[in-house]
Amino acid sequence: MELVECPTRQLKLTEAGCAALWKSTRIRPPQAWEGRQACRGCALGAMRAGVAPEKAATPPMRVARICVRCHKQAERVIQNRLCISCYNREGEARRGRDRNGHRPVLADQLYTDSIDVHNSSRSYTVTSTVLNRSELMLQALHTATENLWFTARRRLNIPVPGLQLSLPL
Ligand SMILES: [Zn+2]
Repeated sequence: MELVECPTRQLKLTEAGCAALWKSTRIRPPQAWEGRQACRGCALGAMRAGVAPEKAATPPMRVARICVRCHKQAERVIQNRLCISCYNREGEARRGRDRNGHRPVLADQLYTDSIDVHNSSRSYTVTSTVLNRSELMLQALHTATENLWFTARRRLNIPVPGLQLSLPL
């Protein structure tokens, strides 16, 4: 049986075994303690699995659990975007009142924006209420299974319902 090198994990295995490990990370993402962690997004594994490099990229581990606004890991990510805390703060901003009855600073900072997202097979638009465009990119990465490209239009400055905005262009 012919074995091939895995330089990352410093072991030898069959080419089919390497390909199977790489494929398994796309079906069942590895936990932090698993050796398969090294297989995730591995270009060599992708090549051995017969997948083109541009289709082989994998979002960083658990990116789907990162809040697009505060970048903290969250057990629950609401609307594919926000941790519970940021979701609640956004709710207060939309109402224009925090629990103490004050106008939240966030109420004057949020706006609705869009970004066009492209992968190798299609293009689509992500639109959300954001503090900045990086939130849109991170939101798109939450569900990405391959490399993405982003193109931005001119900032729209669509006000969020209930919010009064004074934004620079
Ligand atoms: Zn958050």
